[in-house]
Parts: sequence; structure tokens; C-alpha cells
Amino acid sequence: MTYTGGNIPKLGFGFMRLPVIEGDENATIDIEQVKRMVDVFMGAGFTYFDTARGYHGGKSEAALKRALIERYPRESFQVATKLPAWMAADAEEARSMFETSLVESGAGYFDFYLLHNLGESRSALFEDYGLWDFAREQKDAGLIRNLGFSFHDKADEFERILEAHPDVDFVQLQINYADWDSESIESRKCYEIARSRGLPVVVMEPIKGGSLVKLPESVAAILNEADPSASLASWALRFAASLPGIVTVLSGMSTLDQVKQNVEIMKDFAPLDEGERAAVDRAREALAKLPVIPCTDCRYCLKGCPEGVRIPVALASLNILIAFADEYRAQENYDWNAEGGEASKCIGCGACEDVCPQHIAIIDELKKAAEAFE
Ligand code: SF4
Ligand code: SF4
Repeated sequence: MTYTGGNIPKLGFGFMRLPVIEGDENATIDIEQVKRMVDVFMGAGFTYFDTARGYHGGKSEAALKRALIERYPRESFQVATKLPAWMAADAEEARSMFETSLVESGAGYFDFYLLHNLGESRSALFEDYGLWDFAREQKDAGLIRNLGFSFHDKADEFERILEAHPDVDFVQLQINYADWDSESIESRKCYEIARSRGLPVVVMEPIKGGSLVKLPESVAAILNEADPSASLASWALRFAASLPGIVTVLSGMSTLDQVKQNVEIMKDFAPLDEGERAAVDRAREALAKLPVIPCTDCRYCLKGCPEGVRIPVALASLNILIAFADEYRAQENYDWNAEGGEASKCIGCGACEDVCPQHIAIIDELKKAAEAFE
């Protein structure tokens, strides 16, 4: 293990939802605004930046170069980026993404390099394209300091990958208090597997893509009562950062105000105390009681679907709407995960409903998803 991040402050800057120039039809990143955000972040002593080859249509790494890498001494911050094999047509194109990332970011080397978004059918591509060995070669050459992967699937698959690649230096997991015990995300199970192997964890989605600052009133009241002066964002960030073995907690910040608020919350970070932890537990229990579609993401329905509809993704996206009324996040979840298996492809054959242990009216729900997201 070559993890060298013991002193990394517990808030990381995710470069996936950057501000864009208002009214610009190409959604050009507002680089002057990003510079101001970086300056506030760095000025408060935070140092970890997380980008990816695929963020902002491939333009995030170049934005990082202009806003940070060209403007600060290289050893004063850490850069993490990611290789999305599933965006490449073949092994050669996938491998070339590493060089592209080096050139676009101008980082010289990557403090943290991740194989991006392993899980489900995506994991096999990284094996087929020889990307594990390729990444190890880059590490041996000094271009990667810590090699890991980000993961969006269940604990069984996580364990399988770690069995096959026990030499990873760290992992990046989706962790927030709402998903901690969720059957579809399995945050806690994945975290505990990582810890049992002594692996440092970078946390992504600590605020569930922003949803945890848009809690239903009944749930927000629980936290506000426990501490009227604490923002909803602070509960979410501090929950994640309080877990032992965390490298840092990423927040995909889109505005200067968000950076200021997050920096304020985390600059004198103190872990949740017992009473605060109990309040978060109560909030999680209240969230679990909301009238969402009872999909457990068991995926039995997927096997028999002749159209390859990504049923659990559609239902999870609808649940974000139901629980949080968060249209942006629900659409983002759908766009990111349902591609190729959109709800509108359903032909109503009923095979999925026959096997669903939760007896969900899947066909009706898919109609709602198609209407809401397509
Ligand atoms: S009803 Fe629709 S989603 Fe269900 S198996 Fe048939 S095509 Fe797939
Ligand atoms: S079978 Fe039912 S519960 Fe399982 S993933 Fe499909 S819709 Fe969800």
C-alpha cells in the first residue's frame, strides 16, 4: 500500500458539476468562477480535487488545469482522475485515455487514479481491456501514486473485485446516511468490506447528489430540532467524514456559495458525537418510512426482460422524486444509469412483474418514468 494521504483534509472538491456560463448553448464551463471557487477552497486549507475523463463532456480535466494546476505549486494539492473503460470502443482507446488525462490536466502525475465506475457488466471491460495491468505499469513508472477504483454496485461484486485485485491502494464508495443501510446501494456493507481489508475510502455522494439538503419537512425537522444552528449539508458531510479510515469526502460543488458553506462546515471538522449520531439515525429511519416504490434492487426482473429495460434504475429515479422532490438529481440518476435500457422500451409483456418479489406494478411505474425522464 502506498497511500500517503493521512493528512488530507476531509473535504474534497468534485469537478463534476461545475458552473457553466449562463445562456451558453454549449454549456461552456465558467472558468473565472471556478478559479474563485478553487481559491476559496485552497485558501481554507483544503487540497483534494476529483475529476474524471468523462466529466463535463471531457472538459473537466482541462478546467482543473486552468483553475488549479497552472496556478498553484503542484505539491500543494492532490489530483484524482478516472478512466471510464465503458466510454471506449476498444482496449486501445481505453488505454489512450490515460495519456489524454495527463495532457488535458497538465498534472504531471496523478496522486489518486481510479478505474471509473466498476460494477454490473462494466467490471469485465476493465479486465478485457487489460486496464488493471496497464494502470499498474503507470504506477511503476511513477505516473500514479495511488491506484484504486470507484464503484457503483452491490457488496458481493465489490468483494469479488477486491479478491481479484487485492493490491489496490484505496477505493471510492457511495456513502451517505440515507443510503447507509439501503438494499440497493449497500453503503455500509461495502464500507465494512473496505475497512476489513484496511483500505482507505474516498467518499462520493455524501449529500446524495444534493438530495439531502432537500429533505422532506418531517425529516428535516428531526435534524433541526437536534441542532437548530446546523445546516442539512453539515449533517451529511459530517456523517461521512466521521467514519474511520476516510481519505476525504467529495462534494461536487457548483457555486461559490456552496464552496463557502462546505468550507465553513468542514474547516474545523469535529466527528458526530453520540447525540448527533442518534439524530442522524432517526432521520434515516424517517426517510425509510416515506412512501417510495418498494424496490430492493434484487434485479430478478432484469433477467427475463426481452428489451433490456433498466427497471431498478427507473424505479430508483422515481423514488428520488417521491422522497426528495429533487427533479435535477432524479433526472441525473436516470440519464447516467438508464442509457440503452430506457423505460419507454418496455413492451408490456409482464415477465418482470411475474418474478418481482415485491409485487410492484412495474409496467405502470415504467410509464411514469418514461413520462418524467424522457
Ligand atoms: S413488461 Fe416491460 S420491463 Fe417488464 S419484462 Fe416486459 S418489456 Fe421488460
Ligand atoms: S424484481 Fe422487483 S424488487 Fe427486484 S429489482 Fe426488479 S422491480 Fe425491484
